[in-house]
Amino acid sequence: MRLILLGPPGAGKGTQAARLVEKYGIVQLSTGDMLRAAVKAGTEVGLKAKAVMESGGLVSDDIVIGVVSDRIDEADCAKGFILDGFPRTVPQAEALTRMLASKGLKLDAVIELVVDAEALVARMENRVKETIAAGGTPRADDNPESFRKRLAEYQEKTAPLSGYYASTGELKTVDGMASIDEVTVAMAAILGA
Ligand code: AMP
Repeated sequence: MRLILLGPPGAGKGTQAARLVEKYGIVQLSTGDMLRAAVKAGTEVGLKAKAVMESGGLVSDDIVIGVVSDRIDEADCAKGFILDGFPRTVPQAEALTRMLASKGLKLDAVIELVVDAEALVARMENRVKETIAAGGTPRADDNPESFRKRLAEYQEKTAPLSGYYASTGELKTVDGMASIDEVTVAMAAILGA
């Protein structure tokens, strides 16, 4: 099963992806996680991505598409994958369609978590508090300024993906303001499970 989760930062894509991974035995491919790992490891990709990521901007398409294409070729993706945080723009979506076609693959569904943008800032602040309370370190871009920039980036560049995937007939929507469990149930209904 090959899926895309769409939705602004803080919409709960990561949480739902983790549940789908467990249920279907597929792999979650978060470009944010992959890029953060590259930054931490100090790889060439990481060095290029670090400053852009910390400011809340978007890493260049060729870097991101290359990272995803290589990852999809790995053996653990054979059963399928959930793309989380990719594609972020219509050109990335078009590049993904071409990349998958070149591998003889296509998507099973694109699910959008529809949420209220202002409520997301509060969710982000809670996530930071919970991470600190649990003894962890919050993400470098989890601060109100970077978060609002990521939200604005989403509205400008990623929100148009709804239209793109509606036009291909692949788009399904879920109310992302519902509880985590309710969102999981709604997604299962879409996926026919
Ligand atoms: P995320 O964890 O999905 O919120 O991503 C964190 C950061 O990684 C973003 O703010 C971007 O700087 C970068 N990033 C993740 N995915 C992409 C993508 N598909 N295209 C460009 N930049 C990305």
